[in-house]
Amino acid sequence: MIEKGIPRVIAVLSATAWLTGPVGAEPRTCPGGQVLTEGAGTDAALICELALRVRGQLASCNLTVPAPLTIEIVPDLAENCAGLYHCGESRIELLPPALYVARQDARGFLAFRPISTDAIFESLMRHEMAHAALDDTPCPFSSCVVTQEYVAYTMQILFLPEADRALFTAGAPEPGTVSADMLHPMILVMAPDLFARRAWRHLMDQDDPCDVIGRIADGQVTLDSPQW
Ligand SMILES: [Zn+2]
Repeated sequence: MIEKGIPRVIAVLSATAWLTGPVGAEPRTCPGGQVLTEGAGTDAALICELALRVRGQLASCNLTVPAPLTIEIVPDLAENCAGLYHCGESRIELLPPALYVARQDARGFLAFRPISTDAIFESLMRHEMAHAALDDTPCPFSSCVVTQEYVAYTMQILFLPEADRALFTAGAPEPGTVSADMLHPMILVMAPDLFARRAWRHLMDQDDPCDVIGRIADGQVTLDSPQW
């Protein structure tokens, strides 16, 4: 799903000296020690730079990403998988940034297809880091997948560059108000792009979206239902 951002990749290569440990050793610790990278190779400095920025973005919306968090770059991630968070392990798997370019058309998330390749890798990292931030959130039911994906998708969209967020919202705007019961797990499975649009519309209709996100993270609010 990314990354025409070759200029950005080149720009941060000179910052490789940030990383502790000898070049090529894995895992490597990002500046500040809150994030580790594995398998990132020459993208390690880029991954660190983006991860630190994403931590700040999520913190500004009441989500605390646990530390340390490991971001592993996995070139053979399953074809239908854009990223993966391992619950309870503080570990994220992402494709190498450059591979998202090749998968952009095939990734199956129609809602995100218009987004620039520069923005998509960071947005997917943000999606997975939002899951990490909810790892300790209590779930009163057998599954809280709707709540989890609601937060992950809306954070993915909220911090997109303005032009990319406009492309997302212009793609196929969700008409009318979205009620919580329209955020159904079957929609999530069958039409994740529609789920993402509905989640975004629902959050944007709240008086204070980041207050809602904080109350979700605290376990005060859930979007799942006992019958799901
Ligand atoms: Zn997710």
